[in-house]
Amino acid sequence: CRALPDSHETSLRKDEIPVHGLFETIVGVLGGGQLGRMLCQAASQMAIKVVVLDPQENCPASALAYHHMVGSFDDSATVEEFAKSCGVLTVETEHVDVATLEKLEQQGVDCEPKASTIRIIQIDGLEGAKRAGQLFGYPLMIKTKRLAYDGRGNAVAKSEDELSTAVAALGGFERGLYVEKWAPFVKELAVIVARGRDGSLLCYPVVETIHRENICHIVKAPANVSWKTRKLATEVAYKAVSSLEGAGVFAVELFLAEDGQILLNEVAPRPHNSGHHTIESCYTSQFEQHLRAVVGLPLGNPSMKTPAAIMYNLLGEDEGDRGFLLAHQLIGRALGIPGATVHWYDKSEMRKQRKMGHITIVGPSMSDVEKPLDSMLSAERFDSQ
Ligand code: ATP
Ligand code: MG
Ligand code: MG
Repeated sequence: CRALPDSHETSLRKDEIPVHGLFETIVGVLGGGQLGRMLCQAASQMAIKVVVLDPQENCPASALAYHHMVGSFDDSATVEEFAKSCGVLTVETEHVDVATLEKLEQQGVDCEPKASTIRIIQIDGLEGAKRAGQLFGYPLMIKTKRLAYDGRGNAVAKSEDELSTAVAALGGFERGLYVEKWAPFVKELAVIVARGRDGSLLCYPVVETIHRENICHIVKAPANVSWKTRKLATEVAYKAVSSLEGAGVFAVELFLAEDGQILLNEVAPRPHNSGHHTIESCYTSQFEQHLRAVVGLPLGNPSMKTPAAIMYNLLGEDEGDRGFLLAHQLIGRALGIPGATVHWYDKSEMRKQRKMGHITIVGPSMSDVEKPLDSMLSAERFDSQ
């Protein structure tokens, strides 16, 4: 972590080959969680300088960033100050102060993806839960418009009687709510789509995401679905991202319905949990791709260089020391699996269901990567309590 130079190149001249350093543009990231950390890891390979803004002094990206400014990415003055040190501004979370980004864009600051994209992601849906219930039927999924992640902004109402409890569980109407019809999906799929500064779009292979209590738990790449489903999912994702503005990677979460229909769940304008496997399984990881896109380098190859990959999220199983112990036991086993890579985010506090790290196993077929994961998870764990 270093002090920043006073001035810097803000963009690449068209005729310039970006070899000095390798690249002079400083990438500012709003948020310094695990996504920011993995962006820093990818950046270090090409000596791209990443600076992060995060309120937590020892946030996961802090140790790896070129510079970490301690401050809130939801505070206008702080973001403006931070932007002065960056050639291009990007995000690892969509829960940022979008009004400030719009103001910065008017002042000529380069934001990728565009503030307009982040605004669309934040605002959605219908008003009037009861009316929606009458319209859609039950169960009804109620979601907060802002600050939702890992399903923490979602509550299900199975009948009209449950509406008020569900709304209360989300902290009332203050955060702004919207409702969705219950989607009786057979599988959840996701597609990462990258857009370069020249507008070119590339899609990563369709993956299957398996959620537990609304939190991403396992990702299988590629998804075990028909080619028709893969094609349709890719088309829907491509179309969704085409309608948004700005460079970077976007994650499109989809539901596969029993009749083969593909429904759009949400679009995250940033690297995403469903793309962590790309670090080991694709020619260009989603993190490197995001950096290439926002600084204006050519996009890399998103296809898989290994036939199969499975990603397992290390979610906090308990608070404190016991949580660490349980996670470390899994990690110890993973280190003995051929083709497995362990990622630990170095979060100082262990909490239940918190994303603490992940394990990716690559191999010659899905069953070859599923089997060692299953045995890693099913073996009994020593418990000191
Ligand atoms: P994140 O941004 O971390 O992916 P989130 O808090 O934005 O999560 P969603 O993606 O909206 O939450 O929902 C989390 C999970 O809840 C989904 O992956 C899905 O399993 C389930 N879910 C969401 N919406 C619906 C719906 N309309 N019908 C059925 N299940 C749903
Ligand atoms: Mg979300
Ligand atoms: Mg989601």
